[in-house]
Amino acid sequence: MKRINIKCLYCNSKAFLRPASAVHGQEYRQPGEEVYVCARYPACDSYVSVHRRTHLPMGTLANRPLRIKHMEAHEAFNRLWKSGMMSRTAAYHWLQVQMGLPPEEAHIAKFSEWRCEQVIQLCSQFLAPNTCAA
Ligand SMILES: [Zn+2]
Repeated sequence: MKRINIKCLYCNSKAFLRPASAVHGQEYRQPGEEVYVCARYPACDSYVSVHRRTHLPMGTLANRPLRIKHMEAHEAFNRLWKSGMMSRTAAYHWLQVQMGLPPEEAHIAKFSEWRCEQVIQLCSQFLAPNTCAA
């Protein structure tokens, strides 16, 4: 397992690998699931999910507003491929092209709030091109 140094972008503290129940509560039982959590958690409410196989973080540490944006962007993006208009793979490719990002950068978990907003706009325009986003 590769040791990596991860810092919290909000308070500059170190982040530590901990079981997911550390942030999701003891009733959250997903054995093997881990998160990188800011050393100052819960004073600094910031963490990121970890890939099971590699133990590497899925993106950068995110605070609550950013985590909510990530969820909203994922929902918008899932609607796109679940609509049946394109496959999930094609939808990821479409997103890369629309945002002008290389494949390794085009992951919603890595996006800033501003980029998440872009994803939501792009997906809703694609699904309803003739309606104005209010
Ligand atoms: Zn922090």
